[in-house]
Amino acid sequence: MAMNRLAPPRWRLDRLPAAAWAAAGLAALAALLAFVTHAPAAVLMVLAAAACFWAFREGQRFTIASSSDDQIELVGLAELAPLLEALPDPALLVDSEVRIVSSNAAARRQMQFEARGQFLTSILRHPDVLEAVQAAVRDGETRAVEYETPAQVDHHTRCYVAPVNWGADRAAMLVFHDQTARISTERMRADFLANASHELRTPLASLTLLIETISGPARDSATDRERFLGMMQVQADRMRRLIDDLLSLSRIELDEHVPPSDRADLAAVAREVADSLAPVLRDRNVKLDLRVPGKPVRVVGERFQLAQVVQNLVDNAVKYTPDGGSVSLEVGPSGDREEVSARAGRRWEEAGRVALLTPAAAANRSYAFVRVEDSGQGISRRFLPRLGERFFRVEREMGDERGGTGLGLAIVKHIVNRHRGGFLVESQPGRGSAFAAYVELAEEG
Ligand code: ADP
Repeated sequence: MAMNRLAPPRWRLDRLPAAAWAAAGLAALAALLAFVTHAPAAVLMVLAAAACFWAFREGQRFTIASSSDDQIELVGLAELAPLLEALPDPALLVDSEVRIVSSNAAARRQMQFEARGQFLTSILRHPDVLEAVQAAVRDGETRAVEYETPAQVDHHTRCYVAPVNWGADRAAMLVFHDQTARISTERMRADFLANASHELRTPLASLTLLIETISGPARDSATDRERFLGMMQVQADRMRRLIDDLLSLSRIELDEHVPPSDRADLAAVAREVADSLAPVLRDRNVKLDLRVPGKPVRVVGERFQLAQVVQNLVDNAVKYTPDGGSVSLEVGPSGDREEVSARAGRRWEEAGRVALLTPAAAANRSYAFVRVEDSGQGISRRFLPRLGERFFRVEREMGDERGGTGLGLAIVKHIVNRHRGGFLVESQPGRGSAFAAYVELAEEG
């Protein structure tokens, strides 16, 4: 059949197995012995038959026994299968006709094919990959090709294509590396930098404008100067808050993979935060309803970070509640993951609700929750899943560029994630919003 088969030709002298040579030698020795000793022809035949039998058995391990060309090719290359199988990434071996002659389980699983012998194009059509395969088998070139497979989440793959010499012919080996996680991390980092610099540039631009105004048209008016200095203060405060939140977030992320081992009293944390907010509450005429058990609610957690969670949630509740409204802050021990989500996050029948973070299921784990409820305007259902995304602000989506940093809930989410806890929101426009976080209860004793 085709000249460019990849299997070694069957009976090339340099490929005759050692066993065949040994058998030939043995047969020659038997003939010599029979000649010298005048042994009967039967003895000679028995010796020759034994030599042939042994040669055949040994030879099977080295040579290709089939007479069909296709068989020859597949049996020959099949010897490479254990090598491919040992690779953790999907790998294929294709012949010069671009037919798959060997593959590993990872490749078959990912590309969903079973049979070898089919053309590569039936499972992969990317022109750059096919060109790289041609270059490998034709010119012995090695190439790395990156390509994207559109799906619900786009997949990015880097495919290394390298020539493999097999007898006088060439095959190409393709190894696929999934790059999706790396590319999405790179994109996130780039987006984060773009967002952070945009957020910082806005107050900076206002400050520059105010400085120009004070040193120009408003230079001679004490009242104007006073007013513009006040506005500068607001912008400087906004920049400081942004930088504080950014630093806070990066500190939390730094050890997010190390769960805390300390113990903290969630009830005491809530009481302290409520005390520290008393002046703001008075200022805004917002009533705080504190529902915290008298005895400690001991959880596995870092006290400072848990205080940050409660503080950010209560800050928001107060900020987004109109003057004269009310906010409630509740702490309680609850049950397992399902019980705590129901108790802390499913109270308002007509509310939209989303679990922003859910811990992995774990047997024998009980949680304690903190729930902060407000009587503000609520959040539209469509925005709920985006809460906790960095820089996401409902007001901005509605065309209002003012407001907070959009980092408060992201900080909460990352702290809760570090604590391997959960984070929920339920909200009903006109009624208010409720955010709840839960973390693992510490064992008594
Ligand atoms: P910000 O500093 O803007 O408050 P957050 O990350 O704390 O940033 O909140 C993100 C967005 O979520 C806010 O801009 C606001 O649109 C919305 N939000 C958060 N908490 C509440 C709440 N209690 N009521 C209404 N909207 C809220």
